[in-house]
Amino acid sequence: MVTRTAVTRHPACSAPPRYPLAVLPTPLTRAHRLEAALGCGPLWIKRDDLAGFGVAGNKTRPLEYLLGEALAQGCDVLVTGGGPGSNFTAAAAMAARTAGLDCELIIWGDRGDSANLALATAAGARICLTGDRDRAGIDDRVFARAAELRAGGRRPYPVPRGGSTPVGAVGFAVAAAELVEQLRPHPHPALLVIAVGSGGSCAGLLAGLDMAGVGWPVLGVSVSRPPGEIGARLTELASGCARLLGGPCTGSAPAGRLTLVDAVGAGFGVASAHERERALLALRTEGLLLDDTYGAPALAAALDRMPDLGGPLVYWHTGGLVPAITQRGARECAAQGGTP
Ligand SMILES: *Cc1c(COP(=O)(O)O)cnc(C)c1O
Repeated sequence: MVTRTAVTRHPACSAPPRYPLAVLPTPLTRAHRLEAALGCGPLWIKRDDLAGFGVAGNKTRPLEYLLGEALAQGCDVLVTGGGPGSNFTAAAAMAARTAGLDCELIIWGDRGDSANLALATAAGARICLTGDRDRAGIDDRVFARAAELRAGGRRPYPVPRGGSTPVGAVGFAVAAAELVEQLRPHPHPALLVIAVGSGGSCAGLLAGLDMAGVGWPVLGVSVSRPPGEIGARLTELASGCARLLGGPCTGSAPAGRLTLVDAVGAGFGVASAHERERALLALRTEGLLLDDTYGAPALAAALDRMPDLGGPLVYWHTGGLVPAITQRGARECAAQGGTP
């Protein structure tokens, strides 16, 4: 039973307060038909696309701890931001409102026809469009708006883009323990593959695997920043997260198990023909919906490594269902017909 009223503490560790949103554990499934199509395996899929809250996917996990902290601090409005297509802002709007908080979103650019922005609006968020395309300045604007609200007597909880803070990363540190438990009866994975955007998910995973004492290697598929830039950020977030959990991790340890690949390609949100073909194969063999921004590039990177791996691979399906359905996915597939 998921209760949405109480803030609870995770029993396994000294985790910060959690506001329950997700239905956990998310399923871990074997992709037998995809394995057969590829002629190699085993391939496990960690189904965070089915995290059980709205269509929020992997964003459900950080939001549980961000809202846990917001409620513990007595905050009454969550302020965050991102691009018009941001999965995080829509998820944050739904989660904040569910927890009884108002939500304000600072969105760069124009409204456009983003389904995520429509969802955030429908959830009751107050949207402020910047009208320019400056992405990097969004976090400053979020904190400036929070200061304004505070001056007006409100109690804001500002969250940087993507929810990637040490507190947010705790969600994925707990997820790492969840995966370790699910894989207990099975051979150890040779590789874990996850998409990397703002980095909180991968950082939490690294901290959590460290704390669980397993040495499994992780491939981070970076879709928005060059690996050199995101690597330092991951180390910082992972060590901040481990400190919150009272773990032994010093910050140098998580980087050792991590390989980062550059999947920026033709740009953020643009999948290559090869990535889209891999996503269609997953749709037609397993019914998996993958978006162009995160899912398709990360799955392609995973499948490309399988023939030489010599052991099980775990692909972390992070969700992205809103863009997967509304942008390409089903629409493109229906238009194409035939087999990939
Ligand atoms: C945000 C997001 C990611 C990346 O998570 P980060 O914590 O920002 O690195 C991956 N997949 C999907 C579908 C996302 O929405």
